[in-house]
Amino acid sequence: METTAEIGTRVYKFGDKQADGNGGMKNLLGGKGANLAEMNTLGIPVPPGFTITTEVCAEYNKIGKKATVDLLKEDVNLAIQHIEEIMGATFNDPDNPLLISVRSGARVSMPGMMDTVLNLGLNDKAVQGLAKMTGNDRFAWDSYRRFIQMYGSVVMGMKPKTKEDIDPFEEIIEHLKEKRHIQLDTEFTVQDLQDLVYDFKEVIRKTTGLKFPTDPWEQLWGSVMAVFDSWNGDRAVYYRKMHGYPPDWGTAVNVQAMVYGNMGDNSGTGVCFTRDAATGENVFNGEYLINAQGEDVVAGVRTPQQITKQGSKQWAKLAQVVEDERQDQFPSLEEIMPRIYKELYTYQDTLEKHYRDMQDMEFTIQDGKLWILQTRNGKRTGAAMVKIAIDLLKEELIDEKEALLRIEPNKLDELLHPVFDPAGLEKDDIVAQGLPASPGAATGQIVFFADEADKFKNTILTRIETSPEDLEGMNLAKGILTARGGMTSHAAVVARGMGKCCVSGAGALKIDYKNRVMRVEKKEFHEGDWISINGTTGNIIEGKVPTMEPELSGEFAELMKLSDKYATMEVRTNADTPKDAKVARSFGALGIGLTRTEHMFFEVDRIMAMREMILADTIKGRKFALKELLPMQQKDFEGIFEMMEGLPVTIRLLDPPLHEFVPHQLATQKELAEDLHISLAAVKNKVADLHEFNPMLGHRGCRLGNTYPEITEMQATAIIQAALNLKAKGIMAKPEIMIPLVGTVNEFVEQEKIIRATAEKIFKKRKDRIDYLIGTMIEVPRAVMVAAEIAKHADFFSFGTNDLTQMAYGYSRDDASKFMKVYLEKGILTEDPFEVLDREGVGQLVVMGTENGRSTKPDLKVGICGEHGGEPKSVEFCHQAGMNYVSCSPYRVPIARVAAAQAAIRSD
Ligand code: PEP
Ligand code: MG
Repeated sequence: METTAEIGTRVYKFGDKQADGNGGMKNLLGGKGANLAEMNTLGIPVPPGFTITTEVCAEYNKIGKKATVDLLKEDVNLAIQHIEEIMGATFNDPDNPLLISVRSGARVSMPGMMDTVLNLGLNDKAVQGLAKMTGNDRFAWDSYRRFIQMYGSVVMGMKPKTKEDIDPFEEIIEHLKEKRHIQLDTEFTVQDLQDLVYDFKEVIRKTTGLKFPTDPWEQLWGSVMAVFDSWNGDRAVYYRKMHGYPPDWGTAVNVQAMVYGNMGDNSGTGVCFTRDAATGENVFNGEYLINAQGEDVVAGVRTPQQITKQGSKQWAKLAQVVEDERQDQFPSLEEIMPRIYKELYTYQDTLEKHYRDMQDMEFTIQDGKLWILQTRNGKRTGAAMVKIAIDLLKEELIDEKEALLRIEPNKLDELLHPVFDPAGLEKDDIVAQGLPASPGAATGQIVFFADEADKFKNTILTRIETSPEDLEGMNLAKGILTARGGMTSHAAVVARGMGKCCVSGAGALKIDYKNRVMRVEKKEFHEGDWISINGTTGNIIEGKVPTMEPELSGEFAELMKLSDKYATMEVRTNADTPKDAKVARSFGALGIGLTRTEHMFFEVDRIMAMREMILADTIKGRKFALKELLPMQQKDFEGIFEMMEGLPVTIRLLDPPLHEFVPHQLATQKELAEDLHISLAAVKNKVADLHEFNPMLGHRGCRLGNTYPEITEMQATAIIQAALNLKAKGIMAKPEIMIPLVGTVNEFVEQEKIIRATAEKIFKKRKDRIDYLIGTMIEVPRAVMVAAEIAKHADFFSFGTNDLTQMAYGYSRDDASKFMKVYLEKGILTEDPFEVLDREGVGQLVVMGTENGRSTKPDLKVGICGEHGGEPKSVEFCHQAGMNYVSCSPYRVPIARVAAAQAAIRSD
């Protein structure tokens, strides 16, 4: 068969400290499968099993179920025998049944996005065998009913399709609880569980017309294929798109012997982290439940207990549980199972040292024996990411380059967000306390359903608990608040991964979905009411809370210093005001790469003079209005130069089409006519005159300065005089004057002449001089082609990749959103080229423009000031293209600094 010819081994076994695969085979075995293999070789007790490779997933998508089963049958048979030998139980043996789990595992972890089937191998006979073997009827029947429920949902299509649909299995459970007047699953008797098994099978038969399969092999193949199918399920597809994972990766399938945490009080299950995933602190932590299965910990139905004694005490303080009650009802694993705790502690240490990164592990204790079910590099917040990388470096587990490469530059954004200002917070406003699951501050209007998270502009998704279905809504909301679930609940883990503020497990909240209301003691909060949550303290606060700039940690500063050691490109900022310049400088910007002068004209006191200038019919009239603008513009430049003392400041001459400055509404046109003492008709005529069919390709950029040289004159005067004024005060200004939208060398030369003549005139008058540069933006494709000529005159190039992208693709910057979504959905484009620099097309123009320019001026300074200058992948490309600097918005400066360092390290 042509599609399968290249595929080698399809099934990789592991168990008893041996494995066919290893940790380096993530692409083939998936992250989970590779780690299971690796853990075996490290001597960690892992339930035996096997991994079906990601290649088989792709193969299955091409050839279908039957052909895939035929290809796998022999290998899977042998692999099952391998598990049987280690576990001393037999698949399909009613007296001593081997039970297995079937789980997904893509090359990167996608928590909860794909399907899992547990307790596979049970049927009416095997359940008796399991009961006899374990001497625990209740456990056996509970496992069986869980299996039918899961298999029915995952494999037989019984999952509710919408939030209004009721889960048929949950409905049966609720019905039985009502009948029996009980509240908890744990109160079911063996007879109840047997009734559930019967009713579950019946509802499956009635709904699907199919009998629940009794043959374990049929169960196994059904589950394997369902896991493959879940790679293309809605949740997984959304998650993949969100993270940019390609559809052809596929998922592996991991089949493992079941071990049980619900076999009684000597059993349990939990999740643990080698360091704190929220803060990055080096403390072992996690949660567990006695007599429970894995999903019970994450589902948030029971309150999980802390693994360490220290963690338990901290938790009790936040949850307002007194010490006696804590010891009695919520003791730590360290206290009640000290031997197991010690063993677990050793394994977490081994695993962290081995993987040289923070691990997120799952474990089960079956009747006094500890099993590690999985380990992976733990998801973490931006703050934890920085602290862990720097700490691991200090602990000499990783070197400087690796520490830098551990940083996801975009995640630094989280650290730079505002936090609540304690001064604006009244104590009474704190209505309840939850767990500080994911740090940050969020204020928004309450919504209770994930698919309504965009109902208001800023929302707080408020749920009893969250589930993987809620992912999209969690992403849209400003913050997440849950009444149940601990620090490892779904909400907490996902929020940390997204860098979204989250407070979880706030038990005092009573959420009533039906009436869309949340009650806290006597207070009521309805949908749309404002609340604030503090993911760093766990506080839930009524109303809106003012915010302030965050304080950056010492580790953050260390990271920045390290970045500068390796980066070869400088990072500048795009800033139009002294305030922006100040922020950027505090983030380490080494100059300004773009000041857009037009923004200065929109302020109330200037727009009138600007309009007067535009409406003037004569040069004299225009010059008169420009004279009014000059001192204002000069003052702005002085402010910016002062803030950027000693650093280069690139100021771009006026760029946008003039019609953007004139009023288009009748009322404001009337006002303007009155102010200028001209007729309304004259204003209207001028506005009509300025109308352009294609303003982005019209009278803008250097075309303005070339048709109205007096504008360039005024701006050059303001720049040079501002720099001289500062010089007189002992402050060094380094202006770099930039001409926009140049497409021909003459456009540049004409502007250059005006600027130089203006400067010389002023120098003469003031009997003083300053150094300045004149450069150009490269944002018109023609400029790329004639860059060698332009560079003979220009001191520097700055790529304006916003316009360059617009003109290379022929996509209007202002209208692309109309089709971009569809293009991305259909895969016509893989990324929005206005966000991520298109290396194949626009990128080639950048390379060509740089090479052409440097062919006549070898030391030509080249930078970028389009939006791409702060986007990590684009920054990497700029490094490869040999740029001297990138320029980006102030808050992206730290991101670009790390991205520049990473690019330099990667290209070493
Ligand atoms: C650009 O075109 O990339 C640029 C920086 O200029 P503007 O966005 O102001 O057109
Ligand atoms: Mg531009």
